[in-house]
Amino acid sequence: MNPAVKIPFDNTYLNVADALFSKQLPTAVEHPGLIRINEALAELLFIDPEQLRGAEGVAVLAGNAIPAGAEPIATVYAGHQFGNWNPQLGDGRAILLGEVVAKDGYRYDLQLKGAGQTPYSRMGDGRSPLGPVLREYIVSEAMAVLGVPTTRSLAAVTTGEKVARDQFLPGAILTRVARSHIRVGTFQYFSARQDLDSLTRLADHVISRHYPEAGQAANPYVSLLSQVVEAQAKLIAQWQSIGFIHGVMNTDNMLVSGETVDYGPCAFMENYDPETVFSSIDHAGRYAYSNQPPIAHWNLAWLAQSLLPLVDSDETKAIQLVQEALDNFKEQFLYHYNQRMCAKIGVAQVSEEANELVAELLAIMAKHQVDFTLGFRVLAEWLFWDRTEQGKSAIDAASLYTLPDEMQGWVRRWHELLALTQRTAEDIAAIARGMHACNPVFIPRNHQIEFAIQAGNAGDLEPFHRLVEVLSTPFEFDAQKLDYAMPATPDQRVLRTFC
Ligand code: AMP
Ligand code: MG
Ligand code: MG
Repeated sequence: MNPAVKIPFDNTYLNVADALFSKQLPTAVEHPGLIRINEALAELLFIDPEQLRGAEGVAVLAGNAIPAGAEPIATVYAGHQFGNWNPQLGDGRAILLGEVVAKDGYRYDLQLKGAGQTPYSRMGDGRSPLGPVLREYIVSEAMAVLGVPTTRSLAAVTTGEKVARDQFLPGAILTRVARSHIRVGTFQYFSARQDLDSLTRLADHVISRHYPEAGQAANPYVSLLSQVVEAQAKLIAQWQSIGFIHGVMNTDNMLVSGETVDYGPCAFMENYDPETVFSSIDHAGRYAYSNQPPIAHWNLAWLAQSLLPLVDSDETKAIQLVQEALDNFKEQFLYHYNQRMCAKIGVAQVSEEANELVAELLAIMAKHQVDFTLGFRVLAEWLFWDRTEQGKSAIDAASLYTLPDEMQGWVRRWHELLALTQRTAEDIAAIARGMHACNPVFIPRNHQIEFAIQAGNAGDLEPFHRLVEVLSTPFEFDAQKLDYAMPATPDQRVLRTFC
């Protein structure tokens, strides 16, 4: 069947390298049902959301029908999982339908996640339970509106089939959209096999697709590495600045495009604690919040290692060149991190004093178990600390969250740094607005996600839809949605997440 769903595919993977993929059709499911279509994203991709909503659209999203122009494949990759080398992984349950050049001029992959087995499924069933599909939809779309580079969710459908985990769960499929799905582990796969031809073709593809300026550089492959290093440094700084914990930063879960990928056991930190870990499989805390920057650096070292043979035939020289590119990670990370953290406290110009102030604030937050998101959000009210009540109420609901009294000494120094006594009320209101624009009220809180998943498993998708909608305007305070802004109560708290 050729369904009446028009997707303007423009595929390139089949020309990159034969060893990169296997042709693989999705496995049809029993009884597909629509969960949600992301209309704005569909339109960005030149896809009519109404076509996706119809029965033939849902058939496409479930893998029961293949739209004209699709060339379904599963790609191979390798990777370090929790530090251990695995020479062959791959899309075990994801099938790439093809690519679309969108209205923004970028090329995107369209992938069905949970669409059946592939040659890389190993022992897996190629399927996904509903819960992880809902979590990925909620969190990836929340990340996107928070301004974090990320894979997106175009649609979610149910399969009408049960998936066997430790219990039988409803099955679902997510349509994932990414600038590409090429991972550090994709490079590692060809490097480990010493398949230089495929490695070169892959690198050239990534350069032309993501980093065309690297093609003009004296050494395009060093430049490629430098740009991935920079993209990742910036990405991880964004994660840190909003308290996002990925949970499974294996090298196969790091995209060279610099987008966040693989929303498995991820979660947002509630009370500020650098050691926070949510993932049920991360026993040693390898991927704890504070470890994310060094782990990203470690992963990038494997990309560097994989690129060595392309960089220079003289290995010593190649090592020196990639080392220089890698060494920039720390500085670039700190640059972006400091920018963002200073902006969160209303300081436009990064300085030593401002960075120290941020560090001291975090120490107070850690000591008093302050909610990371609301702690920063309500800080703007303290701009008006020694001014009139009028000024305070002009900017937000002052009762949203109470900061510890120990903040007072910090607030004094903060006011000095901002030279608040020399500013007009209007200036201060402008600082407050700037702070609100980078300190969200609404983040995908774990207990809300869990609640939406439990309801979904019981057949009620309303909590999921409502959560997606609330999270679509994360910076706008709305008293009607207060429940969604609040941290979990002790009995709501979800301390472990599963993929
Ligand atoms: P992840 O930990 O999500 O990055 O997954 C690790 C590897 O396991 C990837 O290669 C996935 O494609 C594969 N995988 C995860 N779940 C399944 C499944 N249900 N069936 C087949 N492969 C899977
Ligand atoms: Mg993965
Ligand atoms: Mg995963």
